[in-house]
Amino acid sequence: MSRIPLIAGNWKMNGLVADATALAQGIAAKAKAAPALGCQLLICPPFPLLGVAATAVAGSPVAVGGQDCHAKVSGAHTGDTSASLLKDVGCSYVILGHSERRTDHAETDSQVKAKAEAALAAGLVAIVCIGETLAQRDAGQTIEVNTSQLRGSLPAGANAENTVIAYEPVWAIGTGRVATPDQAQEVHAAIRAELIKLIGADEAGKMRILYGGSMKPDNAAQLIALPDVDGGLIGGASLKVDDFWAIAQAAG
Ligand code: PEP
Repeated sequence: MSRIPLIAGNWKMNGLVADATALAQGIAAKAKAAPALGCQLLICPPFPLLGVAATAVAGSPVAVGGQDCHAKVSGAHTGDTSASLLKDVGCSYVILGHSERRTDHAETDSQVKAKAEAALAAGLVAIVCIGETLAQRDAGQTIEVNTSQLRGSLPAGANAENTVIAYEPVWAIGTGRVATPDQAQEVHAAIRAELIKLIGADEAGKMRILYGGSMKPDNAAQLIALPDVDGGLIGGASLKVDDFWAIAQAAG
């Protein structure tokens, strides 16, 4: 089953207007000059920089996404952002359930699922993040933790067009400690097996499962080449044009 890899940059809470403009323009310029690139590119800046980024990548194949959205369409939710507003300012994707949101904002699987359903309703692609902590891995709970988070977070109506899964071992995020190819493939295969149960073999076979956690230019190729790894969700290395581009080239 051939799946077009997705290389997604999670900028987190980094950058000001000038940085975001330069970074987005730099990535867009590389993408425009490489029409045969075999992967899709996505950048996910902080909320206030979404419009700046969308303007900077206009006319290029680079997509823009949010890092979170609210489950409700509108209303009295100070500080939150709706999926339809993300769509309106030029987003086509949204990251949901990142481990930093699960930790910093105590987001639960059912909240992530509700947000993902709002994203789908607004016409966004939901990138649903799951992953185990080091303590859970050391306790031999890796597969159960990930399949359980997947069952709890997957939106109703998920299919290969509207949903992407990101496996991000918490112990690998921002630590420089990357999963080995065997560790990554084992979990990705288990996620796909669980997806087969949840949405059927056809959609599960087409759905992209990204790896995230200290993906860098020097380890991207061997991770993305794994049978069930369909791209990357990249934090630190997405903040430099050359590093992000090197990962894109490893995928495409
Ligand atoms: C992330 O935050 O999604 C991530 C994978 O970060 P890093 O690449 O920096 O580990």
